[in-house]
This record gives sequence, C-alpha cells and structure tokens, in this order.
Amino acid sequence: SVASEFAHLHGNIRVFCRVRPLLPSDHAENLEHHCISSIEEVLNFIRVFPPCSSQEVVFEDISLIVQSALDGYNVSIFAYGQTGSGKTYTMEGPHPLQDDTMGIIPRAVHQMFNSVVELKDKGWKYTFTASFLEIYNETIRDLLVDKTVKKEHKIKRPTSNAVHVTNRKYLNVETVLSLIKIAKQNRATACTRMNESSSRSHSVFQLKIEGLSKKGNITSTLTLIDLVGSERIDKSESRDRLKETKAINCSLSNLGGVFIALANKDTFVPYRNSKLTYLLQNCLGGNSKTLMFVNISPKNSSFGESLNSLRFASKVN
Ligand code: ADP
Ligand code: MG
Repeated sequence: SVASEFAHLHGNIRVFCRVRPLLPSDHAENLEHHCISSIEEVLNFIRVFPPCSSQEVVFEDISLIVQSALDGYNVSIFAYGQTGSGKTYTMEGPHPLQDDTMGIIPRAVHQMFNSVVELKDKGWKYTFTASFLEIYNETIRDLLVDKTVKKEHKIKRPTSNAVHVTNRKYLNVETVLSLIKIAKQNRATACTRMNESSSRSHSVFQLKIEGLSKKGNITSTLTLIDLVGSERIDKSESRDRLKETKAINCSLSNLGGVFIALANKDTFVPYRNSKLTYLLQNCLGGNSKTLMFVNISPKNSSFGESLNSLRFASKVN
C-alpha cells in the first residue's frame, strides 16, 4: 500500500490529494466528475482521496508515517490549498475533539499517546511537549497564550541542530487535546480583533518527542501545518491587502522552493527566506519524512485554483 511504501522513504516529499465533498452551501454547482477522475490519471503519482473519504480512512494512510516519529524521524504533514478546500477540516476537523470527524492533529495525538503505553512495556519512556504557533504576515504568535498579553517571538538558533522560538509555551501531552481547543479559540479571537481571516495565516502544531531506553535515546518532532490559503491575488483587493496577499503568496512559493531544493539535494536550501521554513528547517530534509495534502474543492468555479494547486503539487512531488 501507499502507506507502507511511504514508511521506508526518507528525505522525500510525498503528496496526497484530497477532494472535499460538495456542501449544501455550494448551492447547485456541479461536481466536476471529469476533472476529479482525470486528476488520478494525469498525476498518477498522487494518492487521491475522493470526496467520500472519511477522516478515519485518510488517517489510516498516514498513521505509519505519524508512528515513525516515535522511532526518531522528524515528520511533517502540510495541508495546502485554496481557502474553503478543506485544509482545516483535514488537519483539525470541524469540531476538533469530536470522535468520528476528528482530523489529523487529534488523531495523531491519540495514536502517540496509545503507542507510548505499549512501548513502555518494551522499556521505552517518552516525554512530549506540544506547541501551537501561528505565522501571520511573517510574525509568529503563540496560540496557547492569551493574545491580550503581548509577547515577541523571535527565532533563535543556539546550536546548529535546534531552532528555538523564544517564549514558546510547552506543555504535557495529557492536556494537548484541550489545548487544540484553546488554540482554535485564540486564533478566532485574534482574527476578529485584528479584523483578519484565519485563512491568511499558517498554523503550526508541533509535538516534540523524547524517548529514553537502555538501548539509547531519540528526539524528534511531529509537525502538522495548516497553510495559508493558496488563492492567487484578487486584483480588486485594497492596496494594503494586495501587499499582504503578495507576502502570503511569497511564503508559499518559498516553501515550494525549499521542497524543490531538498528534492534536488541542492547544497543550498533557502530556509531563511520565510519564517515558516526557518522554523521548520530542522524538521525538513535529511532524515525526515514530509507529506503534503493538496486539498481540492469540487466546485466548478474553483477549477482554476484547483489546477494551480495540482501544479504546485506536481512541482514539489
Ligand atoms: P480551509 O481550511 O481550506 O479554508 P475548511 O476546512 O474550513 O477549508 O473547509 C471548508 C468547508 O468545507 C467547511 O465547512 C468544512 O467543514 C467543509 N469540509 C471540508 N472538507 C470536508 C470533508 N472532507 N467532508 C465534509 N465537509 C468538509
Ligand atoms: Mg482553514
């Protein structure tokens, strides 16, 4: 299966495509059957999840790669796509902690937690620390602290193999699930207060993993990223907004640049061109596993953006 094939890949980016179902709010727009089925033919290297795919089915195909974080691999999973294509649904779910519709983040946390109980009998002791950050317009914010308290977050590199964000709040895994809720609330509150849309920021959930046993120690990071909306510039936007949109598009194309440089095994990888890639530089490339979901809306009117997303996917795959 795709999942087991993927489990042995190191330092490669794999792309999975997920098409969300048509929603009542999409009105009478027709599902583009032809467009969707041809995705699989044209881009046959992509694993495609059709609209009927449940959260459980999607997670089944990535559970092995998530699991490999416990073996010491840095694992990163991205959701890429235009606003409304299902990125947040895929990463968090519509109601983050509700069982059957839970997304990747809560499912991954549950899996880690359950596995650790089993691994304990084999002599492994694990510690987790979780963080939930947001990158809005090249500014990092901590979603786990109250937004009314102003703190500055700067990326520091005290040693060559660690990136630290100052003031980042680390907590135990037992509370992680409730933190996801807090993060969601904080994100929504900040958006309302600043008159922003959450679709214009990256959200970065990280679980730092430390495993101890008599045989040795491992440290790794599981990173789950809900990227900014990938839609192209709308020329009717205000001037300020246009500037912001350009910056957003730039951060996504830079991510693509990093993926391509890693795939080509280039000696220079442009991590420093954006906050997101700088933050993730020790989690990508080398001995790490990276997966990107390209989320697609089935609406006819989204066809252009869908095509664009698939182009991005084919470039980095
Ligand atoms: P994005 O984060 O890319 O902007 P959302 O995740 O918010 O998009 O999805 C847009 C809408 O579509 C939401 O109402 C969401 O609940 C719904 N949706 C997305 N994917 C699915 C899916 N696989 N099944 C059912 N509803 C979905
Ligand atoms: Mg979203």
